[in-house]
Amino acid sequence: MHTIANKIDQVRTRIAAACEKASRDPDTVRLLAVSKTKPVSMIEAAISAGQNDFGENYLQESRAKIRALPDATWHYIGAIQSNKTREIASLFHWVHTVASGKVARRLNHQRPPGMPPLNILLQVNISGESGKAGADEKDLPEIITAVRTMENLNLRGLMAIPRATPDEGAQRRAFARLAGLLHSMRTRFDLTGFTELSMGMSNDLEAAIMEGATWVRIGTAIFGTRDQKEKHH
Ligand SMILES: *Cc1c(COP(=O)(O)O)cnc(C)c1O
Repeated sequence: MHTIANKIDQVRTRIAAACEKASRDPDTVRLLAVSKTKPVSMIEAAISAGQNDFGENYLQESRAKIRALPDATWHYIGAIQSNKTREIASLFHWVHTVASGKVARRLNHQRPPGMPPLNILLQVNISGESGKAGADEKDLPEIITAVRTMENLNLRGLMAIPRATPDEGAQRRAFARLAGLLHSMRTRFDLTGFTELSMGMSNDLEAAIMEGATWVRIGTAIFGTRDQKEKHH
C-alpha cells in the first residue's frame, strides 16, 4: 500500500519539476494511472493516495475493475476492435484511442442514453510508422469533420505513442508535432474544448510536459513492471 502511495508521490514530484522547468502550472497536467494487468487491490491503494483517473487497455480485465470501483474515472487507452465499441461506450468516461470515423460513429450510436457525452481523443500515428496504431495526420481533418457533429461524443484532443527512444530531443520533436497538430486543428475547425494532449509515459513524461502534455499516462512508475503475459492479450 505504502509503496504505491510513495510511487505516486514520486511521479507527482517529477510532474511538478517538469512543470517548473516548462513554466507551467502543475494543475494543467493530469496524471492518468495506467492499471492494465494490475489487480483491484493496487488500484484501491492508488485511490487511497488521492488518484482518481485510471487507464485500461484490455476490455476483458477492465469490466470487473470498473464494476468494483465505479466512482473512479476510467479511460480506455487500448486498441479498439469494432465488436467491442458497445461495451467501451457504456463502461468508460474517456477513450484516448479513437483513430477512425467508423469507430467514432459506433461509439456515438452506442453511448447509452442518459450518460453524459463520452470524452474522446483522436490517436495519431505521429511517427508515421506503418502498421502502428493511430490515424495518419492527413486523415485528421476528415475525422474531425465527422466527429464534431456527433452528439454523444465530446471531442477533447489528441493522443500519441511516439516511437520509443532514449533521445530527449527526439522525444520532444515527436510531442511538439502532436501539440502543433492540436493547435492547427483547433484553429482550423474553431473547436472549443479541444485542449487535451495525452502524451508521455513513465520514461518520457518530462519531454511530454515540456511540449504541452495535459495527460501523462503512467503505468510502470506507479505499479511496477508488468509481467510478460501481457504480450499475449
Ligand atoms: C501501457 C501503456 C502506458 C503506460 O506505460 P508505462 O511505460 O508503463 O508508463 C501508457 N499508454 C499506453 C497507451 C499504454 O498502453
